[in-house]
Amino acid sequence: MKITRFKCRLIHLPGGTLTPQPKGVPVQSHYFVALELGTDVGIEGIGITSCGDVLAGALKVAVDTLAGLTIGMDPLRIEAILAKLRGAAVGAGPGGIFTTAVAAIDIALWDIRGKAFGQPVWKLAGGHRERVPVYASGALMRHFPVAHNAKTAALLKKMGWKQMKTQLGAPAGQSWTPGEEVDRIARVRAAAGDDIDLMCDINQIWSVHRALDVGRRIAFANLYWLEDVVAHDDYPGLGRVNAELQTPIAGGEYVYGEVPFRHMIEAHSVDIIMIDILRSGGVSGWLKTAHMAQAFNLPVVSHLAPELQVHLVAALPNGLTVEYMPWSVGLYEEVPVMKDGMISPPMKPGFGLKFDRKALKKYGVA
Ligand SMILES: [Mg+2]
Repeated sequence: MKITRFKCRLIHLPGGTLTPQPKGVPVQSHYFVALELGTDVGIEGIGITSCGDVLAGALKVAVDTLAGLTIGMDPLRIEAILAKLRGAAVGAGPGGIFTTAVAAIDIALWDIRGKAFGQPVWKLAGGHRERVPVYASGALMRHFPVAHNAKTAALLKKMGWKQMKTQLGAPAGQSWTPGEEVDRIARVRAAAGDDIDLMCDINQIWSVHRALDVGRRIAFANLYWLEDVVAHDDYPGLGRVNAELQTPIAGGEYVYGEVPFRHMIEAHSVDIIMIDILRSGGVSGWLKTAHMAQAFNLPVVSHLAPELQVHLVAALPNGLTVEYMPWSVGLYEEVPVMKDGMISPPMKPGFGLKFDRKALKKYGVA
């Protein structure tokens, strides 16, 4: 089998939401690069990537350029393709746009691999479980009023969610006292009830001292995890917070590739390894990090793109839960959804996904 053609599009997609937004708060849109990789036997793989808004056009050029280098190669020899791309783009990696561009290609290659063998990706990657826990994300944000978040937490519970994530750390341009942070988490916990797994994302906003101070004050909330409590690359700082707080600390979505996870693990920075399929360069990098985490007895969780990463969390024994952030789901005709707090990967070959042609046309910008 040989790769014979590709088609790459830039899409500006309105973000999906799990619950209604607060009044006056617009739904965010996100740029995605959507890739189709064709072969001489008629099998076609699909992949996506994203890097925020400002450089989305540059990311599309990077995917176009790298996909062009795969023409004529055997799509089942994924590591050979990755080695060629790394060699060709030497000086432009290992992090940043290079890695996120490679992700689209690697995801499409795994989709082809699944279709070639007639198996879903979650089975090819390990096939550990048919159903995994999934949590609601993006519904209880820091820029939403706390009364809205309390109401929405109760709504999510009613919808069947058993895990949900909120945020602390004041939005840009605001400052909150420690007492205000405590109040926000107390109100969401009270509305969700004690039986819900409640996660809380800080998105690197706190300092080490703030993390220790507020982290101790909110111990009563029994959080399932506190995420990205300080700057993502302050491995010793994270390690200090992790050592001093009882709450499990999660992190990893901001780093690229596999090697930074080694340093995070060596510094005891996190209890829960969060892997982003795009910043890890696709399925191949995701699995390498997850296997490394397993050797240290650490669970792994996904970041964004639930329709893809449900396969990976389900594949491995240390897969803990899938983040359901619905930003990318509008790209497809159909995606896996939560049922009774759990989610199942599709049984169809590859990722079991098809791009929604109408959405690609409607929201395509290049
Ligand atoms: Mg996060």
